[in-house]
Amino acid sequence: PSTAGRPDALVVGGGIGGLGAAFALARKGLRVRVLEQAGEFGEVGAGLQIAPNCTRILAEYGLLEEVEALGVLPENMVMRDALDSRELTRLDLRDLERRYGFPYMVVHRSDLHGVLLRACRRAGVDLRTGRRVADYENTGGGALVRLEDGGTQEAALVVAADGLHSAARRKLVGDAVVDSGHVAYRAAVPIELARGNGIAEKDVTLYVGPRCHFVQYALRGGEMFNQVAVFEAAGPENRGAPDELDAAFAGACDPVRKGIPLMWRDRRWRMLDREPVDTWVHGRIALLGDAAHPPLQYMAQGAVMAIEDGWVLAEHCARSAATAPAGARPDWDAALAAYQAVRTEHCRRVLTTARAWGELWHLDGERRLRRNAILRARDTYDYSFTDWVYGPTALAPDEEPPMFTPIPLSSAPAEDPGGGTP
Ligand code: FAD
Repeated sequence: PSTAGRPDALVVGGGIGGLGAAFALARKGLRVRVLEQAGEFGEVGAGLQIAPNCTRILAEYGLLEEVEALGVLPENMVMRDALDSRELTRLDLRDLERRYGFPYMVVHRSDLHGVLLRACRRAGVDLRTGRRVADYENTGGGALVRLEDGGTQEAALVVAADGLHSAARRKLVGDAVVDSGHVAYRAAVPIELARGNGIAEKDVTLYVGPRCHFVQYALRGGEMFNQVAVFEAAGPENRGAPDELDAAFAGACDPVRKGIPLMWRDRRWRMLDREPVDTWVHGRIALLGDAAHPPLQYMAQGAVMAIEDGWVLAEHCARSAATAPAGARPDWDAALAAYQAVRTEHCRRVLTTARAWGELWHLDGERRLRRNAILRARDTYDYSFTDWVYGPTALAPDEEPPMFTPIPLSSAPAEDPGGGTP
């Protein structure tokens, strides 16, 4: 599509969500322009898990092979207790791929971002960097954005994919981020540095411990090793500083404790989310990705949901255009209403479940033992808690599968002989 003149859609933010949406809209024949504040498009150099509800969309985009060549297909996802390293439960990711039809993959963020960027270029998306959007406004037949440098740009549709601290969200919703008090450290290092720590190179391993958890997996065809260490930080002063990281995992099992010195210490991420909201669409301005639904990262669905958002929005734009006279543009309002109707509820479920997983993983004492007993009793091939997430992305509310409700901890006996606090 030509990008001269006014585009059909302006996408603010060139992260995974913004580029995913831009590509999705462009492949439906729409004229799309991306406005990114940074001087260059890019991503943090750490890992990303992408579940079958995302790889299904990448396959439809014709991008799965490219992503697969850059990533890793782990064999299992194994959950262990961080104190004694005993296995609690696992997903057999080969069987999971058979069930959902698409793989569970891990990929370096910048590799996935690069694939989306190249796909946008090929699809003729007008990609602009160094453009910081300061304000948004609905106009008669669309919406406009005001750039910090004073310029304005207008389109029939404006997609705000400007991330967790979204300026669009501040203006249109006005809520604040919610601080879980958890802090994450990350590392992606050459795998040689982690060999000898008792790592499982072919698996995604999640260690759950009192007030902390730790995730490990290999990246980039197995050359790199990714780790995420999350813990409940102490007081507000210098919250989650590196000495707290060391203390939080001091009593953990060997593969965890030995992994801690590899963590990047010059940067940490406060684990913030927001209360779910039902209104993401304000006139012709739509929130997407973390701007609409930043989760706590415990279901590994943040970037996945952002990619799903773009796919759903583009499908609805295309459907409404298909019923319009030849050459007419989509019925933007109908497409936006359909997008909001299905995505807000799905993402609300993921956000609230992610919070619940965080609590479950961080349990201590008697409740930890009850959790362990429940997880050990789970059948590896019971998919009731992943079907509602990893199945095909719904386009309408009646396609959304029922949500899995976890068993209350109080109903389980505590069988685990372990104990203690790291
Ligand atoms: P962002 O990536 O934040 O992109 C926003 C973009 O907008 C940026 O490029 C920014 O520069 C730009 N921007 C901001 N303001 C403006 C402005 N005013 N004007 C112009 N441009 C602007 N998700 C998964 O699916 N799987 C995982 O395994 C996973 N692991 C995670 C682990 C950790 C520790 C964390 C912190 C997150 C993890 N996530 C994971 C979540 C995932 O990273 C995010 O949900 C996802 O990257 C959000 O993408 P986005 O494009 O919506 O926002």
